[in-house]
Amino acid sequence: MRRHMVLGAILLAGGLSVTAAARQQGGGQQAGAQAPRVVTVDKIKDNFYVMKGGGGNSSVFITGNGVVVVDTKNPGWGQPLLEKIKSVTDKPVVMIINTHTHGDHVSGNVEFPANVEVVTHENTKKNMEAMRPASFVAPPAGGPPPNIFTQNKGRGMPTRTYTSVMRLGSGDERIDLRYFGRAHTNGDTFVVFPALGIMHAADVFPNKGVPGADSNNGGSGVEYSATLRKAADFAAKNKIATIINGHNDTPSTVADMREYSRFVADYVAYAQRAKRAGKSVDEAVAGWKFPAKYTGYNTTANAARDKANFELIYKETK
Ligand SMILES: [Zn+2]
Repeated sequence: MRRHMVLGAILLAGGLSVTAAARQQGGGQQAGAQAPRVVTVDKIKDNFYVMKGGGGNSSVFITGNGVVVVDTKNPGWGQPLLEKIKSVTDKPVVMIINTHTHGDHVSGNVEFPANVEVVTHENTKKNMEAMRPASFVAPPAGGPPPNIFTQNKGRGMPTRTYTSVMRLGSGDERIDLRYFGRAHTNGDTFVVFPALGIMHAADVFPNKGVPGADSNNGGSGVEYSATLRKAADFAAKNKIATIINGHNDTPSTVADMREYSRFVADYVAYAQRAKRAGKSVDEAVAGWKFPAKYTGYNTTANAARDKANFELIYKETK
């Protein structure tokens, strides 16, 4: 939520000129008091990097044919991301995979060359046609930002989609896209790099904190934990050692994902019990306490996020 609010504040402070400059320049550093857009790099393998800052974590996979990028960050961060990719390889970017529709994961698409292939789940493509704001994020003053893809005449929109499984490439360069059901949205892709033992899970497992189930984009509270469990089972079976989270400084493990699935189940069950006990959503939010058994979690209260999640869970619960 904080990231989105900061973005909103930046857009608001600079007005349209900032977004226009950001789109054209990528960096947009000339736009007044805006902080420089710094992308940081973690090398995970010789041909695999995680690039952080400016929204969701981006994975960068260097193949013989070119570079595959998973998620492209907030508006104005595509160019800084491209520059950072140039610092680790001479190869051109040939493919973007977007894990889901949110603006902090897809907006940089419009700053990549127009011939780059963009691959998503088919529901994510539909969601990107609308670019509805996430239900669990307070909208910035002045309302949600305009649809960046409409503004760019469709540039950066998905060119290939899948529904449950997609295989890209072969041998050590194979990439598997997997959809395990609704959770954060209704189009959450897990991007698997089998030869490297890496899975990019993005915002279904953003970090160790309260999840966001986005009712505006087909997300589900009651199905969330099962989706995570299926992903963790798949990861274990396929010897995944490294999970790239949507918003965490360091990767996590399959064990972390299993624990997160249990945490989400507890969180949802709490809301369901509150509903069945006749409590209002606000009462449920006020009564929520982070279970002490989950250690190392961000337990900072986020009432707006809890409220949006619980409203959805209430609707989904008989
Ligand atoms: Zn998201």
